[in-house]
Amino acid sequence: MHSHILPKHLPDWEKKFGYGGFIKLDHYKPKWAKMMQGDKFFREINHNCWDPEVRIKEYQKFNTQVQVICTVPVLFSYFAKPKDGLVTAQFLNDDLASVVKKYPKNYIGLGTIPMQSPELAVSELTRIKNLGLKGIQIGSNINNKNLNEPEFFPIWQACQQLDLAVLVHPWNMMGKAEMENYWLPWLVGMPAETSRAICSIIFGGIFEKFPNLRVNFCHASGSFLSTLGRIEHGFNSRPDLVAIDNPINPKKYCGHYWVDCITHDRDMLKYVLKKQGSKRVTLGSDYPFPLGDLEIGAFINQMNLESSELEDIFCNSTLEWLNINKEDYL
Ligand SMILES: [Zn+2]
Repeated sequence: MHSHILPKHLPDWEKKFGYGGFIKLDHYKPKWAKMMQGDKFFREINHNCWDPEVRIKEYQKFNTQVQVICTVPVLFSYFAKPKDGLVTAQFLNDDLASVVKKYPKNYIGLGTIPMQSPELAVSELTRIKNLGLKGIQIGSNINNKNLNEPEFFPIWQACQQLDLAVLVHPWNMMGKAEMENYWLPWLVGMPAETSRAICSIIFGGIFEKFPNLRVNFCHASGSFLSTLGRIEHGFNSRPDLVAIDNPINPKKYCGHYWVDCITHDRDMLKYVLKKQGSKRVTLGSDYPFPLGDLEIGAFINQMNLESSELEDIFCNSTLEWLNINKEDYL
């Protein structure tokens, strides 16, 4: 339920809109491309990042038939002017929808929306629904604004009304400029970002205002669940700081939201399962990127879990999060 894909070719948005910051793809040799942000190298990608058939074959090795696909967070383009952000989102969503349409038994799509303009974001949500996508992926912060901001309420409202699930993905990592070495933005910043997002949503009372919103947090909620004792203690000891918008203990939301299983650690996944229950833990991979669980689910098979728990993680939890039926994929 957490894998990334992008179109093989991206328009030259810098040229089209007249300003920079957008990602370009440089197909500099067969099967490989460089993602470039202006003149700056961002990441090298293999054809499994854009070719649906290559992906299906690679997934088959791990007995996985269906992938939930979404864009790469660096393509969110929240920095763009709102109308341009809508254009880039529509391009990516149309591409996702075409993959899903061509391989309906192998792909489920999560769209992207221009979060920098809640009004345009809501209009795109309706289009996403009509395209047959099952939800959206959004960033852990929106141009450094937290997800509890009232300007985002219409987006939560629309997701609830349109029955679209939400995946919150860490990106635009806090502290990035101060810790460029050792891949720290990914190893330290990302888990903190996801905790920032979930704390903002819980303390902002978003789950109270929009009780039918179905949200999944990447990387097993980042550092949130492993620091939940501290977070709860903060809530109890300084309610004047923490409980100002929502009086409910943050622990009570365990099992309300979903998380993926990307922990790379059996003990940690056991703890996550204990806190969340197997019906709220979904099979994520972060495929095809190197920090992902690229031997999809292999470590979970070694955990001696009950078969019902395995079925929940490998299938049922995702079906429930997306509100879809298994039969449609058989
Ligand atoms: Zn990811």
